[in-house]
Amino acid sequence: MVAIMKAKPAYGAELVEVDVPKPKEGEVLIKVLATSICGTDLHIYEWNEWAQSRIKTPQIMGHEVAGEVIEVGPGVDDIQVGDYISAETHIVCGTCYQCRNGQYHVCQNTKIFGVDMDGVFASYAIVPAQNAWKNPKEIPPEYATLQEPLGNAVDTVLAGPIAGKTVLITGAGPLGLLGITVAKASGASLVIVSEPSEFRRDLAKKVGADVTINPIEEDVVKEVKDLTDGNGVDVFLEFSGAPKALEQGLQAVTPAGRVSLLGLFPGNVSFDINNLVIFKSLEVHGITGRHLWQTWYTVSNLLRSGKLNLDPVITHKYKGFDNFEEAFELMRAGKTGKVVFFPKE
Ligand code: NAD
Ligand code: ZN
Repeated sequence: MVAIMKAKPAYGAELVEVDVPKPKEGEVLIKVLATSICGTDLHIYEWNEWAQSRIKTPQIMGHEVAGEVIEVGPGVDDIQVGDYISAETHIVCGTCYQCRNGQYHVCQNTKIFGVDMDGVFASYAIVPAQNAWKNPKEIPPEYATLQEPLGNAVDTVLAGPIAGKTVLITGAGPLGLLGITVAKASGASLVIVSEPSEFRRDLAKKVGADVTINPIEEDVVKEVKDLTDGNGVDVFLEFSGAPKALEQGLQAVTPAGRVSLLGLFPGNVSFDINNLVIFKSLEVHGITGRHLWQTWYTVSNLLRSGKLNLDPVITHKYKGFDNFEEAFELMRAGKTGKVVFFPKE
């Protein structure tokens, strides 16, 4: 089978021919129907500092997936050949303090599928059975593969009430775009998006943003206040990881409003926490991963409802992995929403 392999500890990856793996105890083998690129895959491709410290080469890349089970390993009794599955990427221990309290998304011993072991950018892939999520047949593979990042977006948007609320989203990368459609599908009354890239502002509009702002040329806080009768938005969702966006969002959210932070910042961030958080009595949520498995149920139900507008988010579809380098370079340049591969036979 073919696979995108992080073959060497250097920039890039290679398309290689390898044997179809055999599922071991507690594992299933899937035929990959669709798989999508995540920002983490890009970091591994670019071989940034984090990737250098974490990834052991050679390793098959990728973790967002939809596939059909074609073989089950010993000890797997709840998944059958023919099941149509996606995968949670956090492999949790089940025994630490957080797991025993039902907080699996912050397990102290989390291993990551496609980061700490072979992934899914291949014709066939191994999935740990405990991480498999059974999909309803009616969800097409190109949507089913997006469930993992949709879970991040759902936890960010739905960390508090959203129906009827005015919302500011900073950053319309793949995750921010998913956040926009989740917010709209969940009944947000006004979704304002701040994003410097014109290409991504256009995508944000197509996905459902009511208003887009260019933070380089416009005064984000003033625009938001003008659009909300001077009050500021009820909810601020940070999807950019840009310190400036964080500060603007905290200024633009109304006192006693709600904030969810998903974007990861390049380092320490400094801002006026007394005036921007404490005296405003903000409710601030740090978002990491997805709740297991509550968020998967929410994502699956949202997909089934047909209310998510995912087609404009999926900007690039590739049949096979032959042009994977083009896909990664486009993503690096910020010229994509989500990129989906459909492996060939
Ligand atoms: P991305 O880099 O593709 O998107 C970020 C977007 O923010 C870009 O479109 C960029 O133009 C925009 N941006 C830059 N400066 C801005 C500013 N001042 N104001 C508004 N927008 C600005 O990343 P992504 O894949 O969409 O992921 C979004 C963020 O979420 C990243 O920081 C990523 O590391 C993080 N992330 C966090 C988790 C988690 O579990 N917490 C999981 C996945 C990704
Ligand atoms: Zn644990």
